[in-house]
Amino acid sequence: MMNDRDLQLIDHNDSVAVLESLISKSTLQHCYFVTHSFPDSKNRDRRAAAGLGAFAPIGDFIYFNRKAAEFFDSHLFSIYAIEPVGHRFGIHQFLLSERPLNRNQLFKQWMRRKNPATGSFGVGGHLHFQEYNPSLSGVGYVFERHIQHTIKSTFCPKRTKRCKRGKCPFDFPFVDLTAEESNSRVIRSLVR
Ligand SMILES: [Zn+2]
Repeated sequence: MMNDRDLQLIDHNDSVAVLESLISKSTLQHCYFVTHSFPDSKNRDRRAAAGLGAFAPIGDFIYFNRKAAEFFDSHLFSIYAIEPVGHRFGIHQFLLSERPLNRNQLFKQWMRRKNPATGSFGVGGHLHFQEYNPSLSGVGYVFERHIQHTIKSTFCPKRTKRCKRGKCPFDFPFVDLTAEESNSRVIRSLVR
């Protein structure tokens, strides 16, 4: 059972139609549907932080995407949502990518705990990875049952001079947006 607060939060999610359209209008050509699970210790952290709004696992997830952009040398953009309180914590994301991503490499990194000495940047959890397929309605499954969160910017690998100078060509990785799409939470959350 979901609590009232979580149901209200889910009411504020962007609509499935708008999200599917945003994915189709991204200049990042590849999209994956990825589910991230966390080890039990992170679930305990979450119960302790329930109601506080922010807690460590989301920070770990954002860190993972940032490091994955560097690791794959690919610009990444995440449209994601989290499990409501009461469920085992997990995050579903539609991961938009400039280049094709290797499932095994992403999986291995998520399974390894963050360790700057070895370059690992995961959490020691499990990951389910599949190519995004709009006809399988993953967007509906996620955003009708999970709480949407947003990111402030594209994850940039900062390899090229242009990106290093702050002129990232994927700063705003969407084209031809309608007024409704421009007014979505995903787009309004971008810092420009
Ligand atoms: Zn860039």
